[in-house]
Amino acid sequence: MLKIASYSLRGQVVRVKLKCACGNSRIFEVRENETLVYFCSKCRSRKTLEELKKDASSYWRGRSWIIECESDQRAQPRVRTDFAAELTIKASRYSPTYCVLHGRCMVLSETGMLIVVADFRESYFQDITSAYRFGEVTISKPAGELPSPLTGRIVGVRFRPDELPQCRIGITFEGLSKEATEMVRRYVQEHSQAGPADTGEGVPRIDTTTSGP
Ligand SMILES: [Zn+2]
Repeated sequence: MLKIASYSLRGQVVRVKLKCACGNSRIFEVRENETLVYFCSKCRSRKTLEELKKDASSYWRGRSWIIECESDQRAQPRVRTDFAAELTIKASRYSPTYCVLHGRCMVLSETGMLIVVADFRESYFQDITSAYRFGEVTISKPAGELPSPLTGRIVGVRFRPDELPQCRIGITFEGLSKEATEMVRRYVQEHSQAGPADTGEGVPRIDTTTSGP
């Protein structure tokens, strides 16, 4: 049976990932007449968009949905990392702080990073995705290897309901100095050549496809 694996909110649009109770997570989308239908590639169990929406709470149901099927992994080099990160969220660089979240930077690429925070609240969603899109990340990595803080735009907020207060937050760098950009680029190149993360295999992608405001 198809189930909702996770939600992420970008602006007013909800992106929904599906999984199947059989353990498979490869889902196809098929248009039958005028109806969108989603299939498990393994056991062929199916649901329509309407049926999926019936399973969702009213918080999600009233919004526009994009169902993520076979994901388009892009070829951009990215490295798996694991260092402590503090994420300060604001409306813009010089605005007052909306909240400060704590977690770990798990993926780094030349253009962005993925942070898994450990103290998220569902009530932050609406505010962050509509108004507070500026993120300032202080990382524990020793100076000299990577600049800190790193700044950028919050482009993805993704959680699994049963994993809260853990939440994955994607950031696309913006407003970095030329030197900082160069440091990040060098770090990613050096580490993606040296390590098993070379192929990007198993390294989660940083969501940069935003339809937000
Ligand atoms: Zn299945």
